[in-house]
Amino acid sequence: MAAQIGFIGLGIMGRGMATNLINAGYEVTVYNRTRAKAEELQTMGARVADSPADAAAHGDIVFTMLADPPAVKQVILGHQGVIEGLKSGAILIDCSTVDPETTASVRKAVEAKKARFLDAPVAGSKDAAAKGELILMVGGEPETLEEAKPVLDVISKKIIHAGPSGSGTMLKLCFNLVVSHMMAALSESLVLGTKAGLSPQTIIDTLMTGVIGSRFYEWKGSCVLDRDFTTNFSLKLMHKDLSLISSAGYSLGTALPVTAAVKELYAVAKGLSNPDEDFCSVIKALEQVAQVEVKRS
Ligand code: NAP
Repeated sequence: MAAQIGFIGLGIMGRGMATNLINAGYEVTVYNRTRAKAEELQTMGARVADSPADAAAHGDIVFTMLADPPAVKQVILGHQGVIEGLKSGAILIDCSTVDPETTASVRKAVEAKKARFLDAPVAGSKDAAAKGELILMVGGEPETLEEAKPVLDVISKKIIHAGPSGSGTMLKLCFNLVVSHMMAALSESLVLGTKAGLSPQTIIDTLMTGVIGSRFYEWKGSCVLDRDFTTNFSLKLMHKDLSLISSAGYSLGTALPVTAAVKELYAVAKGLSNPDEDFCSVIKALEQVAQVEVKRS
């Protein structure tokens, strides 16, 4: 068992992940920009750090679970950041969804400290994080992954080694490309059908009958019908991911025409409603145009 773990970023996902590590018996030092969220975990046995550097200094394995590339750069590379405290030989595991350039700059800084790095963004939302059932998409050296595996097993039900450093980040962007499109397609279908007088529940049930059936449609469809937009994954973070996906497409010279349209739909929705609500609230923008509300009849 790794003696000590540092955990930085106690938002919707990080809170559940850190709690599972504490409950598994690890000695966990936590840091969060909004200190009150870290102090909640103090009552469960965590030590609260005064800075990311302080949390990193107390970790043989250090996790970061932060919103976006600016947050990751600030918290890891910035003043009193993780790099300042990271021990030689430690493993930094960044679970945030970021772009390949951010992952590469973090890896470079980690290696300069003679420490090791894994990019390990996650699939699965708030519930999966709380239950320790995330899917991890990992980039990095297989030996480093092997060493971290007992700790990663606490927070996940499946670990996918995508390839060398940066591959986890890229795989996650490919994954969320599909998720964002699925929600956009479901939303358009529900708004069109409802406006035409169909039962939205019938649309969802029909989607579930054949080979295209996905628990995702059932889950997010129910949330829409119940008008429950409680945040599992925010609209603003899905828009962030679509922006990262588009930039990756530009860098790699691939055309992402459908993603471009989907990204702009999320941008409109973010502007029209609450960007902190769940990303299934993207449907509200389409409802506004159609002047119809998709709900349980
Ligand atoms: P969240 O609830 O918004 O939490 C974001 C975390 O980042 C908080 O700890 C926040 O601190 C911190 N943060 C943001 N900007 C910062 C800055 N400039 N400096 C320092 N700390 C900063 O987000 P989340 O849903 O947990 O998502 C975390 C990451 O996981 C994101 O990259 C997201 O794309 C990815 N992800 C999320 C889900 C999901 O379903 N939620 C699923 C898969 C992947 P404060 O508490 O002080 O705001």
